[in-house]
Amino acid sequence: MPEELKKFIETFSKIPSLGPRQTTRLAFYFADLPKKDFKNLVEIFQNLEEIDHCPRCFFVKKKNEKFCKICSDEKRNKKIIALVEKGTDILTIEKIKKFNGVYFILGKLAEKGIIDEELRERIKKLHQIIRNELNRKVEEIIIAISPTPIGDFTSNIIKNEFSKYAKKISRLGRGLPEGAEIEFADENTLLFSFEKREYD
Ligand SMILES: [Zn+2]
Repeated sequence: MPEELKKFIETFSKIPSLGPRQTTRLAFYFADLPKKDFKNLVEIFQNLEEIDHCPRCFFVKKKNEKFCKICSDEKRNKKIIALVEKGTDILTIEKIKKFNGVYFILGKLAEKGIIDEELRERIKKLHQIIRNELNRKVEEIIIAISPTPIGDFTSNIIKNEFSKYAKKISRLGRGLPEGAEIEFADENTLLFSFEKREYD
């Protein structure tokens, strides 16, 4: 195989959940495209340079905007915070149009029971938001992370860290199959899971 294709496959197989087979298919797909389409593709990639992360919740935002669309929305209740693992989970939850609070992306969960630097930093940031912006009072923290052992462990860390500030802490779980990912849950299941969320 030409080096160019190898390089492509090597680069894109780093994308989570894309295996070498899919990446190879992708490489061949792009290589077969009419060469005139390439300018447009390059532009699409270059435009991603304009995307940055919200300093408040870590969701995507445009570089020239201060916060993401959700954090800048006056109508959203900042005292209800849903904690998610990744940005794509926010897209899934937004689809059900049931949630009017804000989000906070935890990033990496506590794999094997270990809190790594990234998660520690995120927890610190959430403490800051609650202390500085919310006057140490939160109506509800909804732990919207997948019901897996890693999710359970992370959920316990969150409860220990924040139960003193939150009136209520809840966890999405009911209706979501064991080990299921929030991102791929269908709308009805997620809606049910929101309505029947479990309180401690
Ligand atoms: Zn935000």
